[in-house]
Amino acid sequence: MDIRGRRQSSNVEDRRGMRPVRTGVGLSLGGVLFLVVLSLFGINPLPFLGVATKAPEVQMQDTGQPYQESPREAQTRELTAVVLADTEETWSALLPKYGVQYVEPKLVLFSGAVASACGTGQSAMGPFYCPLDQKVYLDMSFFDDLSQRFGAPGDFAQAYVIAHEVGHHVQNLVGTAEKVSAAQQRMSKADANAMSVRMELQADCYAGVWAHNAARSRQLLEPGDVEEGLRAASAIGDDRIQKQTQGRVVPDAFTHGSSEQRMRWFNRGLETGNPEACDTFAAAQL
Ligand SMILES: [Zn+2]
Repeated sequence: MDIRGRRQSSNVEDRRGMRPVRTGVGLSLGGVLFLVVLSLFGINPLPFLGVATKAPEVQMQDTGQPYQESPREAQTRELTAVVLADTEETWSALLPKYGVQYVEPKLVLFSGAVASACGTGQSAMGPFYCPLDQKVYLDMSFFDDLSQRFGAPGDFAQAYVIAHEVGHHVQNLVGTAEKVSAAQQRMSKADANAMSVRMELQADCYAGVWAHNAARSRQLLEPGDVEEGLRAASAIGDDRIQKQTQGRVVPDAFTHGSSEQRMRWFNRGLETGNPEACDTFAAAQL
């Protein structure tokens, strides 16, 4: 990708200089019971979690020193900000056609651990999106893993990861996330998991929709970029990147689909550039 002279998003929140401090304040017993009762009645507790968990389990304390980044980290941060800006262009142009105004998500850079409205995020979980605060959380060291452990190097592989998380934000904005989560309350665990796979593949397809638009409208892609993206889609299939989930309400805590399925849906978005082609819920075959 050639990012020289490209706009960088102002929605990047740098929290790399923060360190977690345990406070022991989490969900109260009453809060937990309240959520359990809601779930029993088939009410999606997700919208209530934001209220119930107002006190974070972990507070982040400023170390008082700005994070000292290496030149390589600075480069990756710039790439992240450019990709995020480009997803803003894409989705704010596409969504109004469906009667939805695009609200730009924040992207939080962290190192090690981070407090989100969905609970404490750890680097080992990989990047994630929290629907409760509409933020994407990213420890950029994940990109080293992507390159070294998963064999998917390159800046477009990184861009794909960001665009996938933004895809979850789009699902949140258009109401898919809420519908799916409500339906999952009434399903067996296996069916609920299959539903999560469809969510993940749709986010992959949305990443492809972004790549299509980035290439067509803004010539952001260079030869070889698509292959990098496909390699990344394939490399992080299934639960290869997911470790402990600790019961957090994050779509990425579930199965993602096979490598082949991920590549296929990314490709579908890439070829069509049309979010309507991403209806993984209607597809008989994934
Ligand atoms: Zn995902």
